Amino acid sequence: MVDAATAERLRPLEKLKGRESTHLLINEIYASIQGESTHAGRACVFVRTSVCNQRCSYCDTAYAFTGGEAMRIDEVVRQALSHGIELVEITGGEPLLQPLLPSLCTRLLEAGCEVLIETGGSHDTSVIPEGVHTILDIKTPGSREEHANDYGNLQRLRTGDEVKFVLTSRQDYDWSAALVTRENLHERTTVLFSPAWGLLEPAQLAAWIVADQLPVRLNLQLHKYVWGPTKRGV
Ligand code: SF4
Repeated sequence: MVDAATAERLRPLEKLKGRESTHLLINEIYASIQGESTHAGRACVFVRTSVCNQRCSYCDTAYAFTGGEAMRIDEVVRQALSHGIELVEITGGEPLLQPLLPSLCTRLLEAGCEVLIETGGSHDTSVIPEGVHTILDIKTPGSREEHANDYGNLQRLRTGDEVKFVLTSRQDYDWSAALVTRENLHERTTVLFSPAWGLLEPAQLAAWIVADQLPVRLNLQLHKYVWGPTKRGV
């Protein structure tokens, strides 16, 4: 049972009504450089789905909350492969809201792609097929979506997955560091600490990580340094 606010956020998915088994709601598909995670710097095709059930305080893809085009899965695969780039990232919005997401992953894997999914972490990731690498967000208090975390996903991490914390403040840093330590996350997966753009200085976060010798990686949004923080489709 979803609350009224979440139901409103999900309303744009009605565009898929009756076509859930053949179409996905797609915001954009484009080729660029992977900007975050240990894959940063690699050429990558992005498949961005529309609609998100969360509203993070620092969200930089609010344009994907609504709109989008109901697109046949065959067409999504065709467009993703048309760039001839091996690495494909499915992002959002929240990709796990799309009923056909597992099928899309399987189709891309079968085509020989290396597939990444970036998820906000509020949905069960066990629907993601083996072989896909999940970049799992854990929402901090500063995101104002901490309550939405599905912590069961930490037990579903697989080889090649990564966990990302976007930090807005020292409070977020302390909260995240405590979770990493409590769950031994650094021994099970790659842990990324990312400063929220415009809210926390990268140099400040770097200093905290060094001072504490915290076993995490400083993760910067590379695409924002290359093209600026507001440019879309890059
Ligand atoms: S989960 Fe991602 S897309 Fe959704 S509101 Fe948060 S940052 Fe934006």
